[in-house]
Amino acid sequence: MPSQRRVVIVGAGIVGLCTAYYCRRRGFDVTVIDGRPARRDGCSFGNAGMVVPSHFVPMAAPGMVAMGLKWMWDPRSPFYIKPRLSWDLLAWGVRFWRASTRARVERAAPVLRDLHLASRALYEELAAEPGADFGFAPQGLMMLCKTPHGLAEEAAAASHARRLGVPADVLDAVGVAAREPGLAADVAGGVYYPRDCHLSPDRLMAWLERSLAAAGCRFLWETAVTGFDVADGRTARVRTASAAHVATTARVEDGPAGEAAELGDSVEADEVVLAGGIGSPAVACHLGLRLPMQAGKGYSLTLEAPRAKPAACAILTEARVAVTPMGDTLRFGGTMEMAGLDESVTPARVAGIVAAVPRYYPAFQADDFANVRPWAGLRPCPPDGMPYLGRTKWYRNVTVAAGHGMMGVSLAPVTGRVVADLLAGDRKAADATSPPPDLSLLSPDRFG
Ligand SMILES: Cc1cc2nc3c(=O)[nH]c(=O)nc-3n(C[C@H](O)[C@H](O)[C@H](O)COP(=O)(O)OP(=O)(O)OC[C@H]3O[C@@H](n4cnc5c(N)ncnc54)[C@H](O)[C@@H]3O)c2cc1C
Repeated sequence: MPSQRRVVIVGAGIVGLCTAYYCRRRGFDVTVIDGRPARRDGCSFGNAGMVVPSHFVPMAAPGMVAMGLKWMWDPRSPFYIKPRLSWDLLAWGVRFWRASTRARVERAAPVLRDLHLASRALYEELAAEPGADFGFAPQGLMMLCKTPHGLAEEAAAASHARRLGVPADVLDAVGVAAREPGLAADVAGGVYYPRDCHLSPDRLMAWLERSLAAAGCRFLWETAVTGFDVADGRTARVRTASAAHVATTARVEDGPAGEAAELGDSVEADEVVLAGGIGSPAVACHLGLRLPMQAGKGYSLTLEAPRAKPAACAILTEARVAVTPMGDTLRFGGTMEMAGLDESVTPARVAGIVAAVPRYYPAFQADDFANVRPWAGLRPCPPDGMPYLGRTKWYRNVTVAAGHGMMGVSLAPVTGRVVADLLAGDRKAADATSPPPDLSLLSPDRFG
């Protein structure tokens, strides 16, 4: 029987929208609240749009601390932590270091693999829906390696992948050229992951909003969540900074709001889902919950009329630059800059991305990017590289779906599906798209 329990989702990023989608499909009465306007930007829009079963190793992994320390001193490198006196940053660093063990990676990898694969299957279903024009392309991912040393490292990663049942083909330069005849790469070789995919994140967000509005989901825009009314271990109301305006149409360009009403400064909820991306720790704080996270700023540059395009998305591995064809355009993204909640652009980091492109793809020149405006987004990065997903034990009706770091697009559908299943009290793993039963590594309570 469909339930009409009222689910309030804080955050209209890709995780919040996918959660709304699967909750609505379960028959819940769904309201999505976001502090930004409907016509907004944010981490879920300008990203590289990759769906990556190949990315089963969390960011916190052996060797990452040493590599990070080495890169810290190069202004163009793909990784940087802005030195600052911050207890949160220090604690995050210590937790990251503690989590970067082989034993932990061995535990985390099958969990991430299963989640990514479940998400991929859900994306296939979503892409088959009417009007789902978000450019889902199951073309695989090419990890391009400039150096023999880089290729050896990626070949070792490919062996790990195959051990976990994720197909991976190690290719020499000739093999790479044969797979991507449309765009010549000057590389030692690469590893091709056929199960990976890509999509256009802006179009995905727009389609999800349209579908949700059509299905009766309410959106409260420009409505920052500022607290909760709690009684008997439950949150009964979500408090907001301003009177909440309901709009059943998702975007301004969709026409006038189908329904508009003042709700006052709070919203009643039977279930609350925290999906606020990098804003989640502050929201969780109002409930006394601790969700440690640092913002990992990344940039992307989109060429509207690229000289050439690959068929599959790619990662320029040594430079840590992602390359994704999106319709007629080609997007390049990269950098992990930890500088707090600051969305401003650091030109040297962007220059690092631009400089890497012609090294791998001689068809491009740095000048191709001269008039391209860099986009910046803040990835929500927990210290152990694993998202927070599940109910918190401290409240009977609060679920967390946040902290997806570099994998939010890839993991959003399965996250939404897991949350909807949890709220419906149903965690059966009956089919291929069902989540794995063990979510203990993702517990939102794992840091106290
Ligand atoms: C350069 C770059 C490339 C990337 N490439 C990929 C990729 O290829 N594949 C992949 O899987 N991932 C990728 N990512 C990561 C991915 O973009 C993120 O993991 C994902 O967008 C996070 O989504 P989210 O919904 O959790 O957060 P967000 O998109 O940040 O959404 C959170 C929302 O919550 C709202 N909010 C916060 N606080 C409050 C509050 N108090 N009240 C009301 N609303 C609030 C915010 O306004 C925001 O709209 C990339 C990221 C970057 C920067």
